[in-house]
Amino acid sequence: MTDRRPMIAGNWKMNLSLLEAASLVKSIGEGIQDQGVDVLVAPPFTALGVVKGLIEDTGILLCAQNMHWESYGAYTGEISPAMLSEVGCSHVILGHSERRSLFKETDEMIDLKANAAVESGLIPIICIGETLEEREAGETFEVLKNQLAGSLHHFMNQKRLPLSTILAYEPVWAIGTGRTATPEQAQEVHQFLRESLTESFDANTAQGIRILYGGSVKPDNIKDLISKKDIDGALVGGASLKADSFVQIIRLGE
Ligand code: PEP
Repeated sequence: MTDRRPMIAGNWKMNLSLLEAASLVKSIGEGIQDQGVDVLVAPPFTALGVVKGLIEDTGILLCAQNMHWESYGAYTGEISPAMLSEVGCSHVILGHSERRSLFKETDEMIDLKANAAVESGLIPIICIGETLEEREAGETFEVLKNQLAGSLHHFMNQKRLPLSTILAYEPVWAIGTGRTATPEQAQEVHQFLRESLTESFDANTAQGIRILYGGSVKPDNIKDLISKKDIDGALVGGASLKADSFVQIIRLGE
């Protein structure tokens, strides 16, 4: 890795009551010192305010799991970028594979969201990843290249991507399945993504952008994953719901 600061991000998905969310974030805050790692949590929308109130002196960053691209209006059930900023979010996850597969989000929608996030000062964590069928058909790189081109269309047209942007490579077959990509498989893809960023933007952008790996990350596999040159941290689902395992991942398995 160059001087990209590692990040460990916890995606809580649609889990935890307010009390449980408060208790989890307090325990995480107590369990970490300055590990030289950015720590981020993505609670459900309804817990963002409570969690924000508990992370003030911990350095933990607050992230939303999704948002709409419009600023306001008749979009029942949606949340705007400004609303997320107002509640204290600095980051937003976009295009998680569950959003893509269960809620039919397309690359075009993710492109609109990524642009709106940056316009309103939020840092997008843009997720891409291939399915098992696509991997087995030898289509991994093609699928990822298309997802990248579609989700970053606006930025590619401008030939400029903010260096704070974060990508998350999450092979769909590894999410919540207990099946992790090997560090070598993940590194191969991360390297490919960095090369694609060099082609679409420039070497400086490609080297500056953080690329997280996601898919069944646990305390016992984080160290090997993060030892790879192009893996800058992890987006963690299941193992982020327990303070013990999440803190151990933040300590990079030590
Ligand atoms: C995720 O949902 O982004 C994820 C990686 O989940 P898990 O760690 O449970 O595989």
